[in-house]
Amino acid sequence: MSTSSGMPAVGMVGAGQLARMTHQAAIALGQSLRVLAVRADEPAAQVAPHVVLGAADDLDALHTLARGCHVVTFDHEQVPQEHLRALVEAGVTVRPGPEALLHAQDKLVMRRRLAELGVPVPAHAPVSDLADLKAFVADHGWPVVLKAVRGGYDGRGVWLLDGPDPGAVEELLAAGVPLMVETAVPMRRELAVQVARSPFGQAATWPVVETVQADGQCVQVLAPAPGLAGDTALAAQRLALRIAHELAVVGLLAVELFETDDGLLVNELAMRPHNSGHWTIEGSRTSQFEQHLRAVLDYPLGATTPTSPAVVMANVLGAARSPTMSLDERLHHLFARFPDVRVHLYGKAERPARKVGHVTVLGDEFDVVRRRAALAAGWLATGTWSDGWSTHGYAAQRRVRGG
Ligand code: ADP
Repeated sequence: MSTSSGMPAVGMVGAGQLARMTHQAAIALGQSLRVLAVRADEPAAQVAPHVVLGAADDLDALHTLARGCHVVTFDHEQVPQEHLRALVEAGVTVRPGPEALLHAQDKLVMRRRLAELGVPVPAHAPVSDLADLKAFVADHGWPVVLKAVRGGYDGRGVWLLDGPDPGAVEELLAAGVPLMVETAVPMRRELAVQVARSPFGQAATWPVVETVQADGQCVQVLAPAPGLAGDTALAAQRLALRIAHELAVVGLLAVELFETDDGLLVNELAMRPHNSGHWTIEGSRTSQFEQHLRAVLDYPLGATTPTSPAVVMANVLGAARSPTMSLDERLHHLFARFPDVRVHLYGKAERPARKVGHVTVLGDEFDVVRRRAALAAGWLATGTWSDGWSTHGYAAQRRVRGG
């Protein structure tokens, strides 16, 4: 199967910013990403010429996307398992495959499988009624974290409970949201490590990064994680390689970690390019987007050597109040002040706390690089020069995130 250029065609389910940036990488490899978009104005649908309009849970649309594609891969996990299996049965090459992807779709399946493999994860239990929650709290105490087993992203579907809140829990149960509970982990910070794995079995990992969160959402990524002990970094990379191998992941795997006084715990898995890897576009010899394409096409993987001692990626999150200056004007001023800052805008309308782009800054010292990245992202988001994201008008602190 090939395109008129003779180069392979990759189809991606979903047309968000991850697909948009994967398309950018595909262009350099002589390819053009094909995307399944719900709407024609989605980030990747705006730029990729081959767009299939349809939902990720529409099997016909998935088949239409797959037609003429070498391989089908994903920019999100919201594809029903039965559809993935139907595609495989129909002869479509799906990477990662349904069995692997299930662990990025279902937090309970993932927790159980990792625990079986001896990978450290937070204590957890399914919650189908209030009694389950009470039993868990009796063993582990407050606070706890309640999670939607499926469908959460960017902290939506994650609720921190400091004490009994039967109303909120019952409301979720009544709405039919499959739930689980886990201990609220006292952590030093959050880390992430990415690995790419090809069907041939080659694997490559990047340096471990620190992900800085606000309101359950990633605001900055520091690469490599500043001050991380060498043996901890190596252990995290080995862990990610092992998980990728055990779960037979093909493509990219992001492993989100909690660093605690007692070591590392795995929080979450994603099997696609991930926000924690945007820094690799400028900060690594091979970006996560190109690496994902190489992996799903079974090309040899690219070098993951960093290009700079300190790399900071900061998300541009829509401000609570609309800036008076247009984004175009803000960009103009940003370029005037920081000619070295790399900007990626996703073509999305600005809405409070919505990821509309990111900036990446390279340098020698984290203090300097981090401040420049925060200033740049804050300016693009709000049109004001201040460097603390808490003052940028990002979504107000909410104890319970929903929707
Ligand atoms: P999502 O899939 O929506 O990204 P996560 O499970 O990654 O949800 O959780 C989002 C954020 O919530 C994490 O990055 C972390 O800051 C916080 N969090 C999640 N689980 C726990 C936990 N068990 N203890 C403490 N904080 C947690």
